[in-house]
Amino acid sequence: MKNERLLVKAEGIVQGVGFRPFVFNLAQSLGLSGHVFNHSRGVDVEVEGAPEALVRFMTRLREEAPPLAHIIRVTQEPIPALGKPGFAIKHSDAAGARTALVAPDSDVCADCLRELFDPHDRRYLYPFINCTNCGPRFTIIRDIPYDRPNTTMSGFAMCQSCRNEYENPEDRRFHAQPVACQACGPRLAYHDAGFRPIKTNNPLAAAVEKIKQGMIVAVKGIGGYHLAVDATNQKAVMRLRERKRRDEKPFAVMVPSVKALKMLARVDEREEALINSRAHPITLVEKIKPGVLAGVSPGNRYIGVMTPYTPLHHLLLTEGLFFALVMTSANISDDPIAYKDEDAGQRLAGIADVYLTHDREIFARADDSIERPMGHGPVVLRRSRGYTPVPILLDREYPATLALGGELKNTFCLVKGDRAFISQHMGDLKYQSVYESYQQAIASFIKLMDVGEVAVVAHDMHPEYMSSRFAADQAMAPAMAVQHHHAHMASLMAETHQDGDAIGIIFDGTGYGEDGAIWGGEFFVGGLDGYRRIGTVKPAPLPGGDKAIEEPWRIALAILFRIYGDDIPKLPLPWLESLGTQERENLRLMVAKGLNSPLSHGMGRMFDAASALAGVRHKINYEGQAAMELEMAIEKPVEEGYPVGIEEDNGMLTLDFDKAFKALCADMVSGAPRPIIAARFHQAVVDGAASMAGIIRDRTGLQRVFLSGGVFQNRYLSDRLGARLEGLGFALFRHGRVPPNDGGISLGQAVIAARRLLAKKEG
Ligand code: ZN
Ligand code: ZN
Ligand code: FE
Repeated sequence: MKNERLLVKAEGIVQGVGFRPFVFNLAQSLGLSGHVFNHSRGVDVEVEGAPEALVRFMTRLREEAPPLAHIIRVTQEPIPALGKPGFAIKHSDAAGARTALVAPDSDVCADCLRELFDPHDRRYLYPFINCTNCGPRFTIIRDIPYDRPNTTMSGFAMCQSCRNEYENPEDRRFHAQPVACQACGPRLAYHDAGFRPIKTNNPLAAAVEKIKQGMIVAVKGIGGYHLAVDATNQKAVMRLRERKRRDEKPFAVMVPSVKALKMLARVDEREEALINSRAHPITLVEKIKPGVLAGVSPGNRYIGVMTPYTPLHHLLLTEGLFFALVMTSANISDDPIAYKDEDAGQRLAGIADVYLTHDREIFARADDSIERPMGHGPVVLRRSRGYTPVPILLDREYPATLALGGELKNTFCLVKGDRAFISQHMGDLKYQSVYESYQQAIASFIKLMDVGEVAVVAHDMHPEYMSSRFAADQAMAPAMAVQHHHAHMASLMAETHQDGDAIGIIFDGTGYGEDGAIWGGEFFVGGLDGYRRIGTVKPAPLPGGDKAIEEPWRIALAILFRIYGDDIPKLPLPWLESLGTQERENLRLMVAKGLNSPLSHGMGRMFDAASALAGVRHKINYEGQAAMELEMAIEKPVEEGYPVGIEEDNGMLTLDFDKAFKALCADMVSGAPRPIIAARFHQAVVDGAASMAGIIRDRTGLQRVFLSGGVFQNRYLSDRLGARLEGLGFALFRHGRVPPNDGGISLGQAVIAARRLLAKKEG
């Protein structure tokens, strides 16, 4: 048989991840000639040889690609054979390399881990060991192309041994930009509370000693500093709470292994796989004994855990033989995570007792990602380190679009061609420090993705969101407002590669509606190109506005007045009993006269009210606490929920929970157990949503249902409503890689705005 030659183009994250050496070795093992080089959209390969060897090459190219490679697309075309022997790695052209994708940060790989603990290896116990298959990426890249001078490793000159590895195509460290060793690379340092360096031969041992004494140690990681304390030391955990000004919000915990974790929590196979996945997200798992590590997640049945992902984490846990370390983002309440050394020293003053730091600069901050295992698979609640900036592949090419996201849990999104790059988690833009960091990150992303000219800037309809102000102030491109819940629905459609008309059930906290009202319990018919609001949840008054969100008892009381008038039943609720007559009357008047009592359609508020009425939580310390604790109160599912009503007015369906609240109060009066009450309320939401979906299907013939919005972080609701809808024959779509909460809306905004722009151009 005559030899043939193929031109193969691999697109995706294929640069800086050991892809070329992999191709080199694969071609050689199959006796193929040709070459490989980095090209504009990825890696180009020319291979020549026997046809059957070429077939095997194509199969193995996909199946055996290096662990950090994300191949989005592979194409092949026959070209004339050249008959030249040998296979070469060609130098890349800089212009081409500019548009290649940046890889996310990766955990230490198995090979490096083995070397780390091998006394005969030259990187024995070296905290910055890495290779082409692992190590920092996104957080150290200043500019493209991804070459060492464009990373924060630029200041470290490679020693001869490292250089030999770096230049050898057959070495695991071939072109590993962060390659280093103890002789030439970054080093650990130990600083006191005032961020002054303290001389010591062994910074690691010094830090471990402090943790053992119950001190708070700031540890520099991949995307920022963590505050580390011994999670089994209750006093140390309490001190951390005081200093961080964080009363009850759970802390994330790092455990040495899933094996150790199993003494603390229930972990099934799927959860284990998630915890050990390359991104090492903080994973929510159920505690076995609620009392264990009580201070870490008080009043919470779940605990957020992760396993070590940097060599330094492995060394820290091994050296200290720690069973569990609190590893929480180094910040005060809602500030962004500290990641620059000087800044950390200032902002963590009064919090950290000592610092375990190093001289490899972090260029981009990235918090730990958070995932929750659900019935249909893991759902990302915070998409950040380990995932950013892996793109979501879209079904067509779009003009360059910048979408600015929401206000809370903000992310932004850049669309370039058929890729959507969602930023790392930014946080709450109301905080000046977060907003500043957001502006920097946008500029940096535009540079890193080589977007050039942005064609449209999408933002939320809410005029007071900081992101909307940014949209109004920028001069990059025309701004386009997108409705909040439409963006939620579109983000899920983009994630799941769906188009056309469908039913959207968007259960959310707060979002600005087209009519200026607060929406958030929405039933939409539509898709990426538009929507019709066909149903909603009967709104509840928020006496005191934002204050009612912090104090759900206000919403609960307003609902009691609406249902019972002045004749509120005597409920066994301490917050209700302790309320003075005057206070009660003031609130009643506020609602009656509509003074600072906006109406909210938000499903989150229904959960808040139910939580207060069930005596679970009447004031919150962190966002979503009341609803979350109501879910946690459930012990097992119930089949029968509280009754709900569905009304129709002028073609608009309304889901009314007043009957459910009334039945809940009756249960409280009769002393029904709290876990049952919590489950019955959840079940009412399942029943109500499923009935609405049924009515909408009857009227429209639509079969596909999309579940999005922050309320779908609730596993009971997601699993039970999902099962019900599937049982009714709906085609169901739920989030996985993109958060259902406001961390996901930037993607939806981007796609909606980009399509509107296209429609304008084509129309
Ligand atoms: Zn490695
Ligand atoms: Zn070296
Ligand atoms: Fe939302």
